[in-house]
Amino acid sequence: MSIVNNIEAIENEISGKGVTLVAVSKTKPVEMLMEAYNAGFKRFGENYVQELTDKHEQMPKDIEWHFIGHLQSNKVKYIAPFVSLIHSVDSFKLLQEINKQAAKHKRVIDCLLQIYIAEEDTKSGMTEDECLEILTSEALKSLTNISIKGLMGMSTFTDDEAQVKKEFRKLKTFHNSLIETYPRLSTISMGMSGDYELAIEEGSNMIRVGSKIFGNRVYPT
Ligand SMILES: *Cc1c(COP(=O)(O)O)cnc(C)c1O
Repeated sequence: MSIVNNIEAIENEISGKGVTLVAVSKTKPVEMLMEAYNAGFKRFGENYVQELTDKHEQMPKDIEWHFIGHLQSNKVKYIAPFVSLIHSVDSFKLLQEINKQAAKHKRVIDCLLQIYIAEEDTKSGMTEDECLEILTSEALKSLTNISIKGLMGMSTFTDDEAQVKKEFRKLKTFHNSLIETYPRLSTISMGMSGDYELAIEEGSNMIRVGSKIFGNRVYPT
């Protein structure tokens, strides 16, 4: 299967469900992304700031770049000129920095708040309480160069489907309660190669799929 076939297969699976596919291209060379681009696919997700800025420089400028990895405050400035959506906001301090850098470029940067749902404590994110604290804070009102669009979550890395389902359901339940008060937080980014079908069943409307499109990743040792 080619990259383009893989994307088309997933697009067919999700069509009519109101789900957006983000192709996660971390560690993959520009040539592979260009195969997708040349077939009309223009939405990519990256985890590392340096890699994202390199690819942004080398590739056409009508690409929608999503940042999905852990983001350090001191690196926000490198992606602020062009990033479309940051999925991985895990603190108010980070939001403040994104706001500051977005203002320099006269932009409003869309963000998702990453909620901690997994059992492993290696997965970053904030608790539901921390999320509510941010959303109800006075200080948020002054951040006019960011727009919070919804939530992101990563499930535990496990074969235990019941566990993963439980985690997605918990996030969706929280999301449902939030959008009653904050309808603009309509995005819920959950689901990767191994669990996006389950995530969609549980109400996801944005999936982040890497290896099922580009093949397994090889990390330098
Ligand atoms: C790498 C990554 C993905 C994609 O993972 P696959 O299992 O290859 O689909 C999705 N979301 C995040 C946050 C990632 O870091």
